[in-house]
Amino acid sequence: MASNNINHVVIVGGGSAGWMTAAMLAKLFTDKFSITLIESDDIGTIGVGEATIPPIKTFNDVLGIDESQFMVTTQATFKLGIQFENWGKLGDSYMHAFGNIGRDIGLTPFHQFFLKEQQKDANLCLWDYSFNYQTAKQNKFIKMAKIEATPLQGIAYAYHFDASSYATYLKTYSQQLGVKRIEGKVTTTKVNAKNGFVESVTLQSGQTICGDLFIDCSGFQGLLIEQALKTGFDDWSHYLPCDRAIAVQTENSDIVRPYTRSIAHDAGWQWQIPLQHRTGNGHVYCSKFIDDEQALATLLANVEGKLLTKPKFIKFTTGKRKKLWNKNCVAIGLSSGFLEPLESTSLHLIQSSIVRLIKLFPDLNFNQADIDEYNMQADREFIQVRDFIILHYKATQRNDSQFWQHCQNMPIPDSLQHKIELFKSQGRIFRTQDDLFSEAAWLQVLLGQNIKPESYHPIADQLTDQQVQKYLSDLKTIFTNHASKIPSHQAFIGEYCPAKKSSIG
Ligand SMILES: Cc1cc2nc3c(=O)[nH]c(=O)nc-3n(C[C@H](O)[C@H](O)[C@H](O)COP(=O)(O)OP(=O)(O)OC[C@H]3O[C@@H](n4cnc5c(N)ncnc54)[C@H](O)[C@@H]3O)c2cc1C
Repeated sequence: MASNNINHVVIVGGGSAGWMTAAMLAKLFTDKFSITLIESDDIGTIGVGEATIPPIKTFNDVLGIDESQFMVTTQATFKLGIQFENWGKLGDSYMHAFGNIGRDIGLTPFHQFFLKEQQKDANLCLWDYSFNYQTAKQNKFIKMAKIEATPLQGIAYAYHFDASSYATYLKTYSQQLGVKRIEGKVTTTKVNAKNGFVESVTLQSGQTICGDLFIDCSGFQGLLIEQALKTGFDDWSHYLPCDRAIAVQTENSDIVRPYTRSIAHDAGWQWQIPLQHRTGNGHVYCSKFIDDEQALATLLANVEGKLLTKPKFIKFTTGKRKKLWNKNCVAIGLSSGFLEPLESTSLHLIQSSIVRLIKLFPDLNFNQADIDEYNMQADREFIQVRDFIILHYKATQRNDSQFWQHCQNMPIPDSLQHKIELFKSQGRIFRTQDDLFSEAAWLQVLLGQNIKPESYHPIADQLTDQQVQKYLSDLKTIFTNHASKIPSHQAFIGEYCPAKKSSIG
């Protein structure tokens, strides 16, 4: 019986999406099929995307990448969370710290005890019960899975890293596993007139590359998924109005912080991402409320170190393709859609697309049920991440600029409205199916942006006031004491993964 297996996978695009996909497919399907990746040095990559979230560790682990070596190569630092400044009100600051907040007791979420106690003490601070926050704010870091002699989770972390070095690292890795790289510009995509499948792509040089499965990693333009297959795009800019970014790199100023900063400005926000050898900065903004020149001036007025690069201007539209998998073409990375980098989710969406593709990997029949399942899961994930990001804009009390007034008044999806209403009454938060963001993540943004529940869940009354007080006080003491003993982030990096100073740039 003739084999029905996929024989040749063609990946178009060699940015983070292309090389992450090539590396994982080559690792898990060695010898099952051949992989060709086409990239164009002339077109280049987007060249941003430096902050990540914790699941990236699993991705690297599956690839068998040594952490300290990877961190040396990519000038990486550790990331314990994102500090949001001026988002609720001007002068506000809170952190979305990774990991748990406090510790649940039985069926009672920790934050219900916190809300109960907060009714008596309005100054009670949620972040006293976040070990990640306590560590981050002192610019400290250590690898610690558990807090010793307790059942408490230790430190949850991700990385800040140089995205171009990561892609280069994965390129070498993939080529060693047999991935064939072709340098060249795709000029034509041939689609079968009968069944609408992609048959081949042709390069400027005239070379034609045929394949069974095509993975579109060509960036925003969606060379195959959109230009060839006309899949369509769900535009979400009415929910997330920012449509421009400017990126610039600066010298590090003083300490290398173990967290990303996200600072809200008049018509958008600024990121600050510390690597070992430099800091990545950018301003994400809405062109309806500020022009490029003013946006650049705002960014340059708020960076800390000397400029190392020329500002790079990027335009984008928030949204996603109507189908991320269409016929025999799967879009991964910017070609599949874009959600602004406020919660550092794009590289993660690449990772989860790859994992989803592996779980639903097709044969030559391209079973429609598999494709539908893929698209359903991808839609759900995009929508969940979208809602979390919208929350940051909607839950603002700022009315000092037209942009923030617009955000306060803009319509939001019913799914998000429902989450906010649930929280407002008795602080209830539910992690819906496969939601990337945990209850602790939603809690921090909701409270950090001053949405206060009217009361707490009565289940928290299982502990008396004195017991709640003692529980909170014991947890706070443990977190404070242990955080004080942790080495500085800089010292830990110096020991574990010091990168070469000479590779600055
Ligand atoms: C302002 C901004 C900030 C971001 N910050 C973060 C962040 O902090 N964290 C995060 O996780 N993500 C972030 N992202 C997203 C992240 O940059 C991308 O998800 C990631 O880089 C993947 O990009 P890509 O590989 O899909 O596309 P690209 O990097 O654009 O790569 C496209 C590839 O396709 C090739 N190509 C295109 N056309 C052709 C053609 N005709 N022929 C041959 N090859 C072609 C190009 O040469 C290139 O190799 C950010 C994005 C933006 C816009």
